[in-house]
Amino acid sequence: MQVAFECDCGKVKGSVESKGLKGYRAVCLCDDCQAYAHYLKRADTLDANGGTDIIPMMPAKMKITEGMEQMKSIRLYRAGMFRCYAECCKTPIGNAMASVKMPYIGMPARVFEKKNSAKGVDDIFGPVTERMQARFAKGELPPLAQGKVSFKFMIKVVKFMLTAKFSGAGSPSPFFTSEGNPTLEPYVLTKEERESLRPLCGSLRTDI
Ligand SMILES: [Zn+2]
Ligand SMILES: [Zn+2]
Repeated sequence: MQVAFECDCGKVKGSVESKGLKGYRAVCLCDDCQAYAHYLKRADTLDANGGTDIIPMMPAKMKITEGMEQMKSIRLYRAGMFRCYAECCKTPIGNAMASVKMPYIGMPARVFEKKNSAKGVDDIFGPVTERMQARFAKGELPPLAQGKVSFKFMIKVVKFMLTAKFSGAGSPSPFFTSEGNPTLEPYVLTKEERESLRPLCGSLRTDI
């Protein structure tokens, strides 16, 4: 089924085909995802632990139908993920892997909630299966916390990307041209910019 998403102000709209996407949802607590939210001044998109609730998407299943001209992208590092957001209201929309050969876009669950409610998102994509990179979590450790990434989840992601590749859902991607170049020229953060964001993120903890 087609599931609608949009940015907070509604200028960017799109939809995804949800078939086969249940069971992959996970919260990422890594300091890069936290730094990204702080860069956009959207710490309000993070949960109490600094986590981002992510729904993995096969690139060809994601369509941006309105507001592509609002979309911008950054990379925290020169070879980092393409973190794509709506410039109009600084809403994170999707994180694409650095290479077009890795067919995966992580979409924040919250962009689906406006049109489908939180309960609707749970029904469509299933509950959060893991809270990864909890070594950077703030506060008390949440349930399903993993210090890094569980082996089980890694296997799942490999299966996800192989399925995308061999089912043809790996391309086209809204974030790559057919030649494999990014559709949105990314801004790469300077070391100073990156480092200025770190104190806002959870620091490495030793209890996990
Ligand atoms: Zn917007
Ligand atoms: Zn992350």
